[in-house]
Amino acid sequence: MPYKKFEEYNIQVTDDVKNRYENIIKDLGEDTRRDGLLKTPERAAKAMQFLTQGYHQDPVDILKGAMFKESYNEMVIVKDIELYSLCEHHILPFFGKAHIAYIPDGHIVGLSKLPRIVDVFARRLQVQERLTEQILDCINDTLKPQGVAVVIEASHMCMMMRGVQKQNSITTTSGFRGQFEKIETRNEFLKLIGK
Ligand SMILES: [Zn+2]
Repeated sequence: MPYKKFEEYNIQVTDDVKNRYENIIKDLGEDTRRDGLLKTPERAAKAMQFLTQGYHQDPVDILKGAMFKESYNEMVIVKDIELYSLCEHHILPFFGKAHIAYIPDGHIVGLSKLPRIVDVFARRLQVQERLTEQILDCINDTLKPQGVAVVIEASHMCMMMRGVQKQNSITTTSGFRGQFEKIETRNEFLKLIGK
């Protein structure tokens, strides 16, 4: 077998969360002995550990592991990065796209690292505003570019399925540092991502 996907879960945490999920499902009025639900508490426990794995990952390490000296000093954009996170108020998903740009100042970073740090911060209990700022600050403080910009567009299940039940509303958040605080640079970026 040339490649095998391998997932590892903390047994103690899985067990604790599993038992709690079993009670939650019962409290909600279900029969946890029903065939389809027998393994649900365990699956849910593992799913939640996967979706919050960002607490145990270091985004600074990820960026530092792939920084290269380079004289390129034009805008670098990675757009349409898929994003899945959990709203910290309801523990319901919000999902959409992130667009990131930076202007190097002596160093570039491996392009695949930008989506990875989006995942590290997204796989926690979040609000979209803080998620945007954390990605922005992490790139700014670690890579120390001339400027960095982050735009996130997301749909929130807590708005779509409950509460105001607005199915089609999209929340946009953005942050800009350094060169992107200048209106021309910011507009060039927004134009390039189709905004
Ligand atoms: Zn919410």
